[in-house]
Amino acid sequence: MAETILVSACLLGLETRYDGSHNLNSSIIEYLRTEELTAIPICPEQLAGLATPRPKTRFTAGDGEAVLDGVGRMEDELGTDMALVFLRGAQMSLQIARLNQCNRAILKQRSPSCGCRTIYLQTEKTEGMGVTAALLSRNGIKLLSEEDFPSE
Ligand code: SF4
Repeated sequence: MAETILVSACLLGLETRYDGSHNLNSSIIEYLRTEELTAIPICPEQLAGLATPRPKTRFTAGDGEAVLDGVGRMEDELGTDMALVFLRGAQMSLQIARLNQCNRAILKQRSPSCGCRTIYLQTEKTEGMGVTAALLSRNGIKLLSEEDFPSE
């Protein structure tokens, strides 16, 4: 059976972003094809039950690691506390990873769910992890991002 790999759905061209657009990455598509990997698309925010389009969410304290530890905070642009919703999306993403025996994931950088090295804290780009990225990492899943697949 082909190896499976979890991939942020927006990187595969699915229109799952908060603004209804996508982040199709042809280098990742080519990598999946040449390595004969079976991509398992996830959008943690849709899995959590959020609509598309939806208000943008950012961290207001800490990052995804801090949210997992109960000390981080995140709000959408309407001021709604989103931590529990994003935790639900992370847990569902982990469940899908386990069901499909994924040991690796390619996630979209800077997202409050999927960012695996960079996120937005308030309006500043900063080092940190999204909530889903942090939970997957804590459960032994190796994380890559689109930055590991530079386009030519
Ligand atoms: Fe893409 Fe992840 Fe945002 Fe969904 S939650 S749109 S998969 S970056």
